[in-house]
Amino acid sequence: MSTDILHRFLLETPNVRGAWTSLEQTWQQLSTKSNYPPAIKTLLGEALAAITLLSTTIKHNGSIILQLRGNGPVHLVVVQIQANGSVRGLARWSAIPEDTRSLNAMMGQGHIAITLEAEKESERYQGIIALEGDSLAQALENYFQQSEQLPTRLYLSANDQRCAGILVQRIPESQPDPENFERVSLLLDTLTPEELLDLAAAPMLYRLFHEENVRLFNASPVFFQCTCSVDRIERMLITLGNEEVEAILAEQGKIDITCEFCNTLYSLDSIDAKHLFLKGVAPINNTLH
Ligand SMILES: [Zn+2]
Repeated sequence: MSTDILHRFLLETPNVRGAWTSLEQTWQQLSTKSNYPPAIKTLLGEALAAITLLSTTIKHNGSIILQLRGNGPVHLVVVQIQANGSVRGLARWSAIPEDTRSLNAMMGQGHIAITLEAEKESERYQGIIALEGDSLAQALENYFQQSEQLPTRLYLSANDQRCAGILVQRIPESQPDPENFERVSLLLDTLTPEELLDLAAAPMLYRLFHEENVRLFNASPVFFQCTCSVDRIERMLITLGNEEVEAILAEQGKIDITCEFCNTLYSLDSIDAKHLFLKGVAPINNTLH
């Protein structure tokens, strides 16, 4: 069995769709890019499981970004998935949260945003609501209730080994059926964090929903891959302008830009900069640390 997969499923009787994911290698690659304190690492893992699940609920060919911003010790969590299943993400903090029991205690007041970005960066859609809830799962349930009016339940979990999640949601076009959704929701509430992290999709769905008519679809792969590139760095420097770039070069001798998502170092000297602004291309040395 592959360890980094996403499954969609359907509960046919009550018009509920769902998704299940478990990520092992992907999560380990992503979470070791920075030295995350345990509680922040858990939150990032939950966010990664969440964005993977969310990709099944949104019809979109570009990238989907989940962003949490707050004024608490953890001020940013951002995770991104592309249509091919590649993911990246990071968290930023100013202090190690003393109270890690709730999302609000860790992140303070802020917002949760889901952004759809097309190939052309100008084409984007963003849904945004206040960050409210004891957990990321709860904050996302609020998001779907407020912005889509779609009853949604989520469970998310992460440890050092893997992150995992399950989502159930009323099929958007279907007739609202609160009683049925409530029943599915109560069945889901019997799930323990250990089961979520340890069970594969089929046994978990059987364990939860054996009395429902479950259709489990084929797994799709999820993997860690950053979308940074020499081209993007160049475009960013061109936006910054020749004068600004010259000023940094005069002061520092070269420009080093490290991608925060994957730690790739992009390095540019004054000859590269001259090429960049004269011809619109620069031979940037791209080295991994
Ligand atoms: Zn990168």
